[in-house]
Amino acid sequence: NHIAGNCYTEKRDDIHLHVYGAHIFHTSNEKVWKWINQYAKFNHYTNRPIANYKGELFALPFNMWTFNQLWNVNTPAEAQKIIAEQGKDIVGEPQNLEEQAIKLVGKDIYEKLIKGYTAKQWIKDPKELPKEIIKRLPVRFTFDTNYFNDRYQGIPEGGYTQIFEKLLEGIEVRLNVDYLADKDAYNALANKVIYTGPIDSYFDYQYGELEYKTTRFDHVKKEYPNHQGVAVMNYTDAEIPYTRIIEHKHFEPDVKTELTWVTWEYPTQYKADVTEPYYPVNDKDNNEMYMKYKNDASALENIHFGGRLAEYKYYDMHQVISSALNFIKTI
Ligand code: UDP
Repeated sequence: NHIAGNCYTEKRDDIHLHVYGAHIFHTSNEKVWKWINQYAKFNHYTNRPIANYKGELFALPFNMWTFNQLWNVNTPAEAQKIIAEQGKDIVGEPQNLEEQAIKLVGKDIYEKLIKGYTAKQWIKDPKELPKEIIKRLPVRFTFDTNYFNDRYQGIPEGGYTQIFEKLLEGIEVRLNVDYLADKDAYNALANKVIYTGPIDSYFDYQYGELEYKTTRFDHVKKEYPNHQGVAVMNYTDAEIPYTRIIEHKHFEPDVKTELTWVTWEYPTQYKADVTEPYYPVNDKDNNEMYMKYKNDASALENIHFGGRLAEYKYYDMHQVISSALNFIKTI
């Protein structure tokens, strides 16, 4: 019922609420950065989330502050020694997320900051998850708490929705329609169609249902100015049912208000056609099933599949843009 997909932001009491969870723009791609800056002015927000493990706070991503808080070490050499010792059982190429995590940061960090969070987030044992997921996070032997390594980072002042409004200026937009229910009629309207929904539903699940991960977002207004003092706090133990609490006003530090909007993120089981898919689960079986759909998709001449759901890829925003900018040169 709105444009902008999961990047959609909504203004509530002067705060731009990230309706589908934290969207922090980051990229090292000059072209992408220039492109997005045509549509919004970005602030200097830098993501420095905090991990909360049973009330104890740790710096993220895994960096010298984290190692100091956990082991009371002060130098990179001391931290590396502990990690090497704790990871020595992982010989050869790690086979899954658990092994990869232990190899990268050792058992203590795995147990406190990764295991519970990952199991909650994906509703799966980390041993059954692809190791690539954990490689998204930097591991640093410096005191740098910036969550991302990219050269450019920020939040669009005024939210994300304006970007899509500008992109769609002068273009007819129909909301609240079910494209898949009336595919032929909609396809007949255009010479080229770009489909960004789940690829398996486009093909009526003929090779089976791809697995996605979904999340429920509980948005709550609080009548005081500051709930947690940071935009993102991760709850990394297995018992607390939510993964993260987001406090949106901290994405835009210039916005001053007497109240605040806070979002609790609850991972939930995905059900095709019922819940919103957010993350592809790129393990071997799902990727194999996706390849069958992809094969069928490439046989369709005027219909193009793009984005996280249609390409079944764990894209970040900058990667989708880069892929789209490359794609348009090809048609
Ligand atoms: N992760 C973790 N603990 C954290 C943050 C992340 O174990 O405190 C792991 C978890 O497996 C997660 C992955 O790292 O799925 C990628 O995290 P990222 O923040 O990139 O996830 P996203 O923001 O895309 O949900």
